[in-house]
Amino acid sequence: MERREIIDVHVHPLKRIVSVEEIIREMDRAGVVKAVLLAMDTDPGNLDRVKIKKRIMEKTRSIYIWNYSSLYLQMKKILYYAKTTNEYIASLVSKYPEKFTGFGSVDLCKDREYFEKQMEKIVKLKLRGVKILPTLQFFHPLKNKNVKRVWEWAERNNLIIMFHSGCDPGPWELTDLSSDANPKYIEPLIEKYNVPVIIAHCGSYSSSEPGIWLKETLELVKEHDDVWLDLSSVGYLLREEEVVEMFREYRVFNNLLFGSDFPVLWGMSISDSVNYIENSPFIQESEKERVFFKNAARLFKFK
Ligand SMILES: [Zn+2]
Repeated sequence: MERREIIDVHVHPLKRIVSVEEIIREMDRAGVVKAVLLAMDTDPGNLDRVKIKKRIMEKTRSIYIWNYSSLYLQMKKILYYAKTTNEYIASLVSKYPEKFTGFGSVDLCKDREYFEKQMEKIVKLKLRGVKILPTLQFFHPLKNKNVKRVWEWAERNNLIIMFHSGCDPGPWELTDLSSDANPKYIEPLIEKYNVPVIIAHCGSYSSSEPGIWLKETLELVKEHDDVWLDLSSVGYLLREEEVVEMFREYRVFNNLLFGSDFPVLWGMSISDSVNYIENSPFIQESEKERVFFKNAARLFKFK
């Protein structure tokens, strides 16, 4: 059998954790011919801003956090390791243009001036999209003014938006802390602007409540043609017969994308993530072809 060619739309070249050579080795081993590298504009310094601190306190009030400083330190560490700049992504793409496509990122809890500067950079560096994360960037999609601006910029410059959905590791596993990452909040923006949106993790990532906002996510796909879902960290969805049937009912297989989240998903290589889906007894070959390659090729207009 000929080897399957795969596009991985969700890879994190975390400078402090993985080298680009290691990513390429992983891709080759898994049959990934193209990977979308994601920037993450995170700033541990945000935690020291009064407004952000207050916000975290409010969100965690209903759950007993005895040791706030330990929560704070864990968050700080994650924001530090996550930070991946637009310049770094662009440098990897220009070094390996055949292998990589790049997404920038902009920290939306910062002011307008910062926002505009980062967006100008993303456009200038010719990145294909913008990744935004309500969790690690401390914003509510309907309350933060920069959110609307990202959609405006994306529409004007043909960028794709990747919206992190669901929980996140560490303290963000607390659902109260991640509640802003429910994809239902971006429906008005999807409605208003002509911008392709990838909802990362299918609204489902959460270690305590897997599938947390899957229903809301499926509704968005059903209503909007240009909404795409990536399977990063939630490949298990395709190993559950009921979910697969629901995906068919909502016609998700035309907009579903493979993503590995490498190297974030603990202990999983890219090929582990591929095999996990490849070996699902519930999906058909034609669905796999779409998930592993065809859908992403259509969205990104790869040859
Ligand atoms: Zn990720």
